[in-house]
Amino acid sequence: MTRTVYVNGDWLPETEARISIFDRGFLMADAVYEVTSVLGGRLVDFDGHVRRLWRSLGELEIARPMDEAALLAMHRELVARNGIEEGMVYLQVTRGNPGDRSFLYPGPETKPGVVAFTQNVPNLADAPAAQAGFRVITIPDLRWARRDIKTVQLLYPSMGKMAAKKAGVDDAWFVEDGFVTEGTSNNAWIVVGNRVITRGLSEEILHGITRAAVIRFAREAQFEVEERAFSVTEAQAADEAFATAASIFVMPVVEIDGVKLGDGRPGPVVRRLREIYIEEMRRAAI
Ligand code: PLP
Repeated sequence: MTRTVYVNGDWLPETEARISIFDRGFLMADAVYEVTSVLGGRLVDFDGHVRRLWRSLGELEIARPMDEAALLAMHRELVARNGIEEGMVYLQVTRGNPGDRSFLYPGPETKPGVVAFTQNVPNLADAPAAQAGFRVITIPDLRWARRDIKTVQLLYPSMGKMAAKKAGVDDAWFVEDGFVTEGTSNNAWIVVGNRVITRGLSEEILHGITRAAVIRFAREAQFEVEERAFSVTEAQAADEAFATAASIFVMPVVEIDGVKLGDGRPGPVVRRLREIYIEEMRRAAI
């Protein structure tokens, strides 16, 4: 099916969408993005994604291309036009097209560009992968040092996903100075007894919107939440592990570098947190 996509105010069949070769998103990865999941045809945690988008744009001094109400209306129209019940909306804001290549940021006459499209994932909530859980390898974190800005600079995460695929597993976790930073496209967690542990917020990781919600839900469900770094060894000895992102919600991780956690199947804490997350988010989606 040909999707209808959004490009700078126009609604177009995906085959007719065009971006300039001088667009800084294309030439310099000078663009930021958000991925918002859709459940029951409604947007999950949209406010959180918009807040992070404003922050990413602010850090890069890119002007806001539209206000929150316009972004919401555009997302809703995209979901409706493409008949999405479950899936994702990908939104990208680029610094725009200054008409030539230059390292310096262009002036205010260059307007930011906005592109958005949907990805239909009919079994996002009921993902088969969540039954088995992810197996992950660890690899060095060779990304730049401002991972808190959600830029489209995704080459190293792509290399990480390919390394995982070649190793016959589902994903890779990045490691720096012996500690796990995060997954290639998700935040990393472990469970020890009644404690759920995930790295604290800094410039070293993306401030996951799913992570923030799961911290809230975990506390409400009487788990202790520790925001601190953990090592690969600690993770391999943990009772359970999981990854969070808009595209996978709460995904069990059952094996790290060939070491199975527990009996190698998703444990009770991650199953519970996934259930709570999906239930609460389905209810609160807009
Ligand atoms: N960490 C990285 C590196 C990511 O790319 C992502 C999502 O794309 C996340 C964490 C999870 O963020 P969120 O929960 O907002 O999807």
